[in-house]
Amino acid sequence: MKRRSLPEHFGTSLKPLSLQLFHMLLDPSLLVPTGPWWIIAAQAIGIYLLVDFISGVIHWSEDRYGSESTPFVGGAIRKNILHHHRPRHITRITFWEAMGTTALISLGIFVFGTLAGFFGWQLVFLSLLGMNVNIVHRWAHSTPRELHPAIRILQGLRLIQTPKHHALHHGLPRVTHYCAFTNWMNPVLELIRFWRSVEWIIAVLTGIHPREDDSLPGVGSTPEWILELDEEIRESARSRRSSPT
Ligand SMILES: [Zn+2]
Ligand SMILES: [Zn+2]
Repeated sequence: MKRRSLPEHFGTSLKPLSLQLFHMLLDPSLLVPTGPWWIIAAQAIGIYLLVDFISGVIHWSEDRYGSESTPFVGGAIRKNILHHHRPRHITRITFWEAMGTTALISLGIFVFGTLAGFFGWQLVFLSLLGMNVNIVHRWAHSTPRELHPAIRILQGLRLIQTPKHHALHHGLPRVTHYCAFTNWMNPVLELIRFWRSVEWIIAVLTGIHPREDDSLPGVGSTPEWILELDEEIRESARSRRSSPT
């Protein structure tokens, strides 16, 4: 009688536990949407809006409660402070610099969601959209000449946030329109006074009030490191102009 090898005898149970867990958490069949088309479409639209809302929550928390000395996220908030003082700077950095923070946040959401058992096309879709939030934000600060026609079409179709809409956040007093992915969530959240209500609840529960934005006229002065950056940019522009072509 043929003796069966141990793995044959025990089927797949001898697979390392980590591999079994990997297959359980990352089942590729979950990447294919199933069910009626209208449920799939409703889920996709819901995820689109959820990405917009998450972008608003992160942006609002940075603008209103973060500072350069905030543990772990101080570096990201420094970029946010620079953005309020010099909104067009985001168009001068590299694509990867612009994408870095949102890519990391999306990766974190993907890993956390997968470990929590939510792996599927919805989580992948959410993570891929989320990775591009700051790129969409960068396009909202770009001039039409700087944008590929396909991007202008996406903005025209209101599939991504338009420059005119994002300008509402950079206007005074700069405490509205935090969502940076589409034009859709902001009007609803402003109508129900969502951010001011959450700030009021936080103040009542913890006594913590939002910080003043020093990029607002009369609130503060431009930080020294931003003035130094201005000088560096001017210097590199001067050397580019004077260098032979
Ligand atoms: Zn802001
Ligand atoms: Zn902006």
